[in-house]
Amino acid sequence: MKTATKLIHNAHAIDPVTGALNTPITMTSTFAQKDIFADQEFDYARSGNPTRKALEETIALLEGGAKGYAFSSGMAATSSVLGIFSAGDHIVAAEDIYGGSYRILNSFYKRFGLEHTAIDASDLDAIRKAIKPNTKAIFLETPSNPLLKITDLKGAIAIAKERDLFTIVDNTFMTPLLQRPIALGADIVVHSATKFLGGHSDLVLGLAVSANEAIGRRIYQVQNGFGATPSPFDCFLTLRGIKTLRARLAVEQDNAQKLALWFQKHGDVERVYYPAIGDAAALHKSQADGFGAVLSFKTKTTDRALSFLKKVRLAACAVSLGGVETIASYPVKMSHAAMPPSERERRGISENLIRVSAGLEDIDDLIDDFDKALQ
Ligand SMILES: *Cc1c(COP(=O)(O)O)cnc(C)c1O
Repeated sequence: MKTATKLIHNAHAIDPVTGALNTPITMTSTFAQKDIFADQEFDYARSGNPTRKALEETIALLEGGAKGYAFSSGMAATSSVLGIFSAGDHIVAAEDIYGGSYRILNSFYKRFGLEHTAIDASDLDAIRKAIKPNTKAIFLETPSNPLLKITDLKGAIAIAKERDLFTIVDNTFMTPLLQRPIALGADIVVHSATKFLGGHSDLVLGLAVSANEAIGRRIYQVQNGFGATPSPFDCFLTLRGIKTLRARLAVEQDNAQKLALWFQKHGDVERVYYPAIGDAAALHKSQADGFGAVLSFKTKTTDRALSFLKKVRLAACAVSLGGVETIASYPVKMSHAAMPPSERERRGISENLIRVSAGLEDIDDLIDDFDKALQ
């Protein structure tokens, strides 16, 4: 089956007990143990829950991995995956991974002795040069945020395999419908399901998928021990979101493409960032089945960017992405506010930059509204 079919037809398409077309929400903290000497699948809900299990098996199937794990947020998923490493280990991470991922490496995990080097992952030589004798993993995210830079996944994974390192890929922007890093050789995929998988801006949840059982056991130890697990209700909402992912993403991606072209022709726009535009488009196309629904643009002046955010009506001015509604965010004051201005400037995250996550609105209305907001 193709991924689009698996979104609907998977092991949890029909509840085996009642025939229900949806997974029941099992709200319980504990499970009665009929025979305390026998093994029982569920005993305590931090360790496992049937609704969570359905989501975990579904994401593992979609990503083509062995095991899936659900967490209370995307950051809980990433932090728990990083928790499989030890003091003295070293991680090579793309410099433009999600801000929260950078922060947890640079603060919490640094204090616990997990070292990390941030590099421009679109440059394979930079990855190679950053590897040290104690390096254990390469952490990637492509396209990156907010400038949609592309990393050569196959190239980076080949470097990791030469040195026996894990490759971890944050696949939030693409979802398994558009990009499946495990098929390209990655060992672990993480997701903020808060975004496209949930898809309705109504939950916070994270997922991790391991390529094999052995890595899965290491992640499970942290999931169960650290305990950043999601509620069964949010697992249900994510399962529900996954079923409509294809339809949502198709429209959102189409809207994003049209907005990107429209922005490119707009006289007040200096530059547009979208995986379909620029030198890396062919590379992106070689490893993904679509360009996604997130784009960024720079206006010619900062004033124009600020007035756009004030005037725009059909986009919520907010953080986050991947919802049914269009969202416009201002990286300098939102996702990258904690970054020193000089560092932001070096990376091109300037005060005239706006990121847009295209929603399901009619494209003519969006363009009409954006046009007015840019005046
Ligand atoms: C939002 C996001 C995260 C963090 O997820 P939360 O659910 O907010 O904790 C991680 N990676 C990417 C790419 C994201 O967009």
